[in-house]
Amino acid sequence: MEENKSPLSEEQIKELNEIASLPQDKQKERLEPFLKSLNPEQVEFLKKQQGQGQECLFCAIRDKKIESKVVYEDNNILAVLDVSPANKGHVLVMPKDHIAFSTEMEDVGHLFNVANQVSKKIYEVFQTGSNIFVANGPEAGQRLNHVVVHVIPRFSEDGINFQWEGKKIEDKEMDEIFGKMKMESIGKKEEVKKEVTPEEKEVQESELKKRYDSWYNRAPI
Ligand SMILES: [Zn+2]
Repeated sequence: MEENKSPLSEEQIKELNEIASLPQDKQKERLEPFLKSLNPEQVEFLKKQQGQGQECLFCAIRDKKIESKVVYEDNNILAVLDVSPANKGHVLVMPKDHIAFSTEMEDVGHLFNVANQVSKKIYEVFQTGSNIFVANGPEAGQRLNHVVVHVIPRFSEDGINFQWEGKKIEDKEMDEIFGKMKMESIGKKEEVKKEVTPEEKEVQESELKKRYDSWYNRAPI
């Protein structure tokens, strides 16, 4: 069929195969000038090829081509136990649509609501806190180009280190950054304040206290 015919020359295909066999950081170096040398038709062709040939792991999980332990599923979201977890109970929450970055999603509300419920479930099951995080981009540690929210149960001395030393930023630079980073309101629906009765308030406070007491007083694991 005409449309399947490659618009790339044999030389170009050879170069592409060479690039594909390089380690990832080297690939990036070579790929950029290579892509720039292509015409729009060739770029379009490559994009299509990539979409067809390279199966996304998370899409394969969604399509049940790869077996997984699904802890939550609805029309838009899937949450599974990570097979190679940072800690036991590590859950991956992902949109069913193949989307690379959370910033490309129109609304992340539902995705994060599910992640939040998973965090709650982790507390119920393990009686411990958790981290919720998203890596947008390889610089942030994203490995696959499909959005995933990690919900990781945390235990004392579990070897996971999210700590960093605060960097010193000069005032001038901080001001410049501030000037660029300030954002307009993105709008928030008016919240309807629900009246809480004194009895409800008491229950809420004692629940919170129980939770924090158990957190601070528990024996190191
Ligand atoms: Zn995918």
